[in-house]
Amino acid sequence: MAQGTVKITLGKLVILQEIDLELYEYKRELAEKPAQALTLKAAYEKKREHFTELEAKSKEIDLARKTKELDLKSKEQSIAHASTQLMTLKTNKEYQTKLFEIENLKADKSLLEEDVLRLMESSERILAEISKEKEFLLEEEKQYLAEKEKVDLELASVQEKITSVEARRREAVVGIDPATLSTYEQVVRNRGGLALVPLVGGACGGCFMHLPQQFVNRIKMFDQIVRCEMCARLLYIKEDL
Ligand SMILES: [Zn+2]
Repeated sequence: MAQGTVKITLGKLVILQEIDLELYEYKRELAEKPAQALTLKAAYEKKREHFTELEAKSKEIDLARKTKELDLKSKEQSIAHASTQLMTLKTNKEYQTKLFEIENLKADKSLLEEDVLRLMESSERILAEISKEKEFLLEEEKQYLAEKEKVDLELASVQEKITSVEARRREAVVGIDPATLSTYEQVVRNRGGLALVPLVGGACGGCFMHLPQQFVNRIKMFDQIVRCEMCARLLYIKEDL
């Protein structure tokens, strides 16, 4: 590469590097957005868990109450039946046995009534909790949707910026020979977006390794693009461009 060409190429690469650092930052932001959206979603869903649990519990209580009510009905029928039988009994012993049986059925019935009452109270308590939780979740949902919209807007904005920077980049690479561009781009990928660095106080501006004087001389000669031995970044001297 001729001296003038190397100098011009380095000048173009300096501009390209600025663009690529911008692009690198935007792409990093872009990559983070889906995770941000997922975190918001997970946090909201976590808040819904309690509500789902309450609803399941409510259903469970209702089912238990219905079962107890059926038991109660059947117990009442048994009592009515036994009472009818009582009238038909001939001996005192049969009569006493039947009375005893009825007393037992009545005791069972009384327990069932208590159970039903207790379950009705539980059901009321849980319905009140569900209603409170619904209000809470409505607020939470509003907040979640607002935050999600914000992330979506940020995402769209970053995408827009990338499109615009990429357009600038297409112009910036014009005139850079393909081999140099390919080397530069490979280093961009491998070195966190930073491929072209100035010499800072005799050290590589990327990895800060001190470079021997012969390196500095080679950079100043402009007969080729010199790369850092340590980090492989392309080097230039600010004042010389
Ligand atoms: Zn280096």
